Amino acid sequence: MSPSSTIQWDKFHNIIDGKQRGSDNIHHGVDPTTGQNLWAVPIGSEKDLDDAVKAAKKAFPAWRDTPIEKRKETLINFCNFLSQYNDDLTTLLCKETGKPRKDAADEVAGITRFLYYHCSLEIPTDKYEDDEKTIYTEYTPLGVCAGIVPWNFPLTLSVGKICPALLTGNAIIIKPSPFTPYTGLKFVELMQGFFPPGLVQAVGGNNELGAQMCEHPGIAKISFTGSIATGKKVMETASKTLKRVTLELGGNDATIILPDVDIKKVAPQVVIGAFQNSGQVCVATKRVYIHESIYKEFLAEMVNFTKTIKVGNPDDGDNLLGPVQNSMQYEKVKGIFNDSKTKGYKFAVGEPDISFSKGFFIKPTIIDNPPDDSRIVAEEPFGPIVPTLPWSNLDEVIARANDTHMGLGACVWGKDVERAMKVARRIEAGSVWVNSFEKPTPLAPFGGHKESGIGAEWGKTGLLSFMNAHVFHVYKSEPTKPSSKL
Ligand code: NAD
Repeated sequence: MSPSSTIQWDKFHNIIDGKQRGSDNIHHGVDPTTGQNLWAVPIGSEKDLDDAVKAAKKAFPAWRDTPIEKRKETLINFCNFLSQYNDDLTTLLCKETGKPRKDAADEVAGITRFLYYHCSLEIPTDKYEDDEKTIYTEYTPLGVCAGIVPWNFPLTLSVGKICPALLTGNAIIIKPSPFTPYTGLKFVELMQGFFPPGLVQAVGGNNELGAQMCEHPGIAKISFTGSIATGKKVMETASKTLKRVTLELGGNDATIILPDVDIKKVAPQVVIGAFQNSGQVCVATKRVYIHESIYKEFLAEMVNFTKTIKVGNPDDGDNLLGPVQNSMQYEKVKGIFNDSKTKGYKFAVGEPDISFSKGFFIKPTIIDNPPDDSRIVAEEPFGPIVPTLPWSNLDEVIARANDTHMGLGACVWGKDVERAMKVARRIEAGSVWVNSFEKPTPLAPFGGHKESGIGAEWGKTGLLSFMNAHVFHVYKSEPTKPSSKL
């Protein structure tokens, strides 16, 4: 396929060994704004996966041996070519996720930033020298990698695996989520004009295909983003062949509001942190702990701002939020609404009764001071509903924030930045934001503590997660006499 081939935005294929491939077995994504089926996509078979692994193995050695500067140049050339399709990709992303056009455009624009930033990074090396030897530490690619992607940021999270894998000299096979297969498949199709056949491939399919990837002896690494429950299965299956795994999993981010914050400025920001992408962000704010001295006023400001948030279709004017992405997630969030209603918790804003109509829309909702062991506090809802909780003692609130098996992100807000930092250091989470809601960036490693993940992706750390350390111990001369030491 040449870079100038016509791109069809309503036809979707698996991409195996540089070619488009269909399947007898198809499924459809669903438009979350209407509940209607979208275009047909092939479900990859075990044979498709085997063929992809064979093609990747063939493509790998030459790419591994291509100088990194050349690899970077190819990625940048592809990135420049891609910009002509930004609008098409944005429209497709809106269709499959239902997110507001502005957010989808931002996700697409983020690809360029991500690729350029990663292409500015160097793979580190290290050298130790003494009188008898020099030890060189270098890093070499793993071989054939697989990326398994969820549905909340289908494009960002695909690119976040493809780009570091290729940059470091690997081949990669991507499996998009069956809920959002379209942008992932199209993105890999667009790459084909720039990369040798088999180097970057996409096999769409269901959860079983994901499990087959974890089992496949020809795959060296699984880069997985998704739920904790699936992450555990991935690790278990991948352990049979001792594959490398990076697991980017769920979270239950606590936000701690210190008593000295500027309430009017901070409360709307905290609301955005909780409801961004309709709460379907691994590091969305999921519990808001507000100092008791300002609890009422802070909650009132959160409620006022939440009431101004418009929810609707991607192109309906100035909507801040779209629907929940799929019916499975909608039902899960509905379960948390029902639980909160049944237990008699106070809805500060939002409606207890959500019912499925045409699309999976839910109004942003705040639950006022539910118990610490309630579902809305203890679980990750992954939807537009968040609890607020008063606190009075700093040690006690830090203990409550840490009282979870998850540890992905957290926020601390306070005018005294040094004091806020002291609190931040005591939070058990991979990323803690001080005076900001959660804004993931490739400028730093992104990963979770506890059950929120293993390893980290993006940035320099992310590059090394696609490599093996390769160490050379070079002695300066041959030994003059046999060594008595081992
Ligand atoms: P999921 O775990 O249900 O699915 C994720 C992917 O795994 C899909 O492609 C799915 O087909 C595949 N899969 C399912 N079963 C599998 C198996 N047994 N073996 C291998 N692959 C399998 O997650 P989801 O519902 O798509 O995503 C939502 C979750 O992802 C939330 O918990 C969210 O917090 C988390 N998430 C984490 C991050 C992060 O970077 N930490 C980012 C986004 C989302």
